[in-house]
Amino acid sequence: MSRTDVLEKLVSLSKRRGFIFQSSEIYGGTGSVWDYGPLGVELKKNLKDRWWHAMVRSRDDVEGLDAAILMHPRTWEASGHVAGFTDPLVDCKACKGRFRADKLEDARCPRKPSRQPGQHADCELTEPRNFNLMFKTFMGPVEESAATVYLRPETAQGIFVNFLNVQQARRQKVPFGIAQIGKAFRNEITPGNFIFRTREFEQMEMQFFVDPGQPAGGRTDMEWFEYWKAARMEWHLALGLERERLHFHQHGPQELAHYARAAFDIQFDFGGTLGFQEIEGVHHRSDFDLSRHQEYSGKKLEYVDQVANRRYVPFVIETSVGADRTTLAVLANGYREEAVPGEPDGRTVLGLIPALAPVKAGIFPLTKKDGQPEMATRIAEALRPLFPVEYDDSGSIGKRYRRQDEIGTPFCVTVDGESAASDSVTVRHRDSLQQERVGVDALVGWIAARVR
Ligand code: ATP
Repeated sequence: MSRTDVLEKLVSLSKRRGFIFQSSEIYGGTGSVWDYGPLGVELKKNLKDRWWHAMVRSRDDVEGLDAAILMHPRTWEASGHVAGFTDPLVDCKACKGRFRADKLEDARCPRKPSRQPGQHADCELTEPRNFNLMFKTFMGPVEESAATVYLRPETAQGIFVNFLNVQQARRQKVPFGIAQIGKAFRNEITPGNFIFRTREFEQMEMQFFVDPGQPAGGRTDMEWFEYWKAARMEWHLALGLERERLHFHQHGPQELAHYARAAFDIQFDFGGTLGFQEIEGVHHRSDFDLSRHQEYSGKKLEYVDQVANRRYVPFVIETSVGADRTTLAVLANGYREEAVPGEPDGRTVLGLIPALAPVKAGIFPLTKKDGQPEMATRIAEALRPLFPVEYDDSGSIGKRYRRQDEIGTPFCVTVDGESAASDSVTVRHRDSLQQERVGVDALVGWIAARVR
């Protein structure tokens, strides 16, 4: 199977098996908004937990935060979003389609999907005009412009405005970081490709504050930038994403924001027409954000280095990754269809690493007699408080394996004719199809060692 049709297969698998549903589907769906079903919510939660663990829990130089979605409207003036968070929009007068002028090559002409907008004889594209991507709403009972607030288009600003709160409350010294996971909203002109580009999504962002002048924590600002670039790539590789499907894309002079010292995207190859696309940005943002908030709020946002007797506005190294886009990368990376001797339909496998898999083990009785269901139920009940497991006694054992393969369950535990006498089960590995016998007493430790 080529990678071209993987997205289509994932949309169908996601709905069928309860990973991801279209939002408000019974009303015809909401444009590019998706709901995570029972397995999707586990998968995305596992992904977010891994990020939180790597970025916050396992470090003493990064603090966690959960800032509100609604912020003072001046925040977005200071950040530059009110004036400049725009995409160039073109309309087609012929088909009434709307497209991003800078991404025409990624869009399809609704009349002739093999061409991009503007390439069909009837296309009538307007001149590009700027369209602000922020969703507006009103705070309080009066719908007037003075009450306008925005749904945050990124989580980062909640970190910047809390810089001193966190630093002082936690007595952190530069260099240190603040991390958070949360929803962001962008009124994208051309959302699409399933959960790749949506109007409501989750970001996992970390801002690392460094000394602008001197090495701190053993590294200069640029060395910290290189450190985070490498660390973030390692994190994606540890998710199981194939090395050949990941690379860095450096922002050239056209892409680089005027205040940025350097910027790289980590791109993943989604295959097909999507190809390599950004899943994370690692940016050296200089002192732009804190200086702007200092200017707009009138409040000092300086760090006081009491040892060196200096005060300064730190530079910021940002790592910003989409939870949904990375979930899609993990799904696209893991999806495969395999031939199985004697089975014309073969099998569909989601090759997720055990730590990400929504269900860690399927628990089956081989038959419905000889006390096998009772023993399998006891095992499932003992494991369930520790890991998500699924008891299944319906259909042939082959069918039950296939159901688990398709949702990425790494292990299937079967209670068989030998189990009662030997107090053991067979454990079948999803990828190698190898089976091994494990004592019931050792099962918890056996699974725990492989799913963490
Ligand atoms: P793009 O160029 O794809 O629009 P961006 O450069 O605007 O992305 P950033 O502002 O750097 O993206 O956001 C950081 C991360 O947030 C992205 O790498 C991506 O994973 C995620 N992200 C951004 N916009 C969306 C969206 N509309 N839907 C899903 N994820 C998104």
